[in-house]
Amino acid sequence: MSRREDSATAKQANLPRTRVSIVRAENYNVDEIRDAVRMGIELIGGLDKVIKPGNRVFVKINHLPPASLPERGIVTHPIFAEAVVELLKEAGANITVGDDIEAGPGDRFAISGFRQMCQRASVRLVNLREGGFVATEDEGRLIEPIYVSRIALEADVIVNLPKLKTHSLTILTGGVKNMYGTIPASLRHRYHRDFINIDDFSLMLTDIFAVVRPQLTIMDGIVSMECEGPAGGNLRQTNIILAGQDAVALDTVATSIIGLNPEDIGTIRHCNERGLGVGCLDAIEVTGASIGSVAVPDFQPSSASTRWLTVRMSKPLPSRIMRFVMRQTVVQPRVAVSQCTGCEECAKICPTGAATIVNEIATINKAKCIQCMCCHEACRYNAIVLRRSLVGNTLYWLVKIARKILRR
Ligand code: SF4
Ligand code: SF4
Repeated sequence: MSRREDSATAKQANLPRTRVSIVRAENYNVDEIRDAVRMGIELIGGLDKVIKPGNRVFVKINHLPPASLPERGIVTHPIFAEAVVELLKEAGANITVGDDIEAGPGDRFAISGFRQMCQRASVRLVNLREGGFVATEDEGRLIEPIYVSRIALEADVIVNLPKLKTHSLTILTGGVKNMYGTIPASLRHRYHRDFINIDDFSLMLTDIFAVVRPQLTIMDGIVSMECEGPAGGNLRQTNIILAGQDAVALDTVATSIIGLNPEDIGTIRHCNERGLGVGCLDAIEVTGASIGSVAVPDFQPSSASTRWLTVRMSKPLPSRIMRFVMRQTVVQPRVAVSQCTGCEECAKICPTGAATIVNEIATINKAKCIQCMCCHEACRYNAIVLRRSLVGNTLYWLVKIARKILRR
């Protein structure tokens, strides 16, 4: 056993057994979801274990820039959030719902339906930048100081509402990654530029999670996103809601449901090693439905997952071959001109200036591109497609076939 594995196991032994519930829900009907979430929370010990009357509760939704309709499966569904908010109100919580969203045309919270939802529920909706950001005293492994939303930091309780989605850079968008939205957008752009490999990026996300940890995570997995998430993938009806106090354990269970190995997800690995949560399935108590009964073994992962596996499998090879493999497995963003509306979102978010608009159509300068996938995440018209080289494509399919055979 390596020293790294040794220390991870030692830390894990000190952690309490973590419970994650799985409950089925088939559509976005607020009454059905409220009942399902209620059951899910009961299965992990009850809401009164987490929230006391009068607590300031910040509900962190997943609201990607630019805004999109809930039917596109990119944001946490507002009806899902409404059902959770109703339960929090019953518990006597003083609720604020929000995320950090960049300025743009129109009311972005109204486009996604959160404005209307919060009006119906009579709770406060905020863009986190309205409350400002503060430098915490915590030291990250990669970033320091760590700036976090004042509203999130000053809340008595954070309730985290991620959506079950793949991610073209980090493989999974889950409970841990959802906390990335609590830091300023300018830093999110900078970190995309500074930490371009999956492991560093995941370590940076772990630094943020270490200072802004939710007390309760409830995942919207009713309609999920597969292939190239978090914005450009395909929708998949998965009909599940997960709940847990440990977001890392919850991500571990979610990862297993969609047929991936939790050890391949950088945020799970790093959080587990640092004692921020449990990333080992054997140490998690799953209640409600079993993983096997809701598993989606043919769920299509993003290219990032196959890339990570290919790189891992080629580690024993000489470094020259390893470097070649790494180069080949990098996916390049390309503009599908017929889909492009010239909306400029990709150019606004690109941290290196590689994406620009020429004659009202996006264009990408390959030499400047660092493959951070921000443009892919920002484009609402599926006009940024991800392409591999011929060798990369062959490796991709070989790994995919190997994965299928190993799963049998
Ligand atoms: S590629 Fe997408 S985000 Fe960029 S301008 Fe075209 S439609 Fe807008
Ligand atoms: S073009 Fe896209 S992938 Fe390349 S650096 Fe810009 S945002 Fe990142």
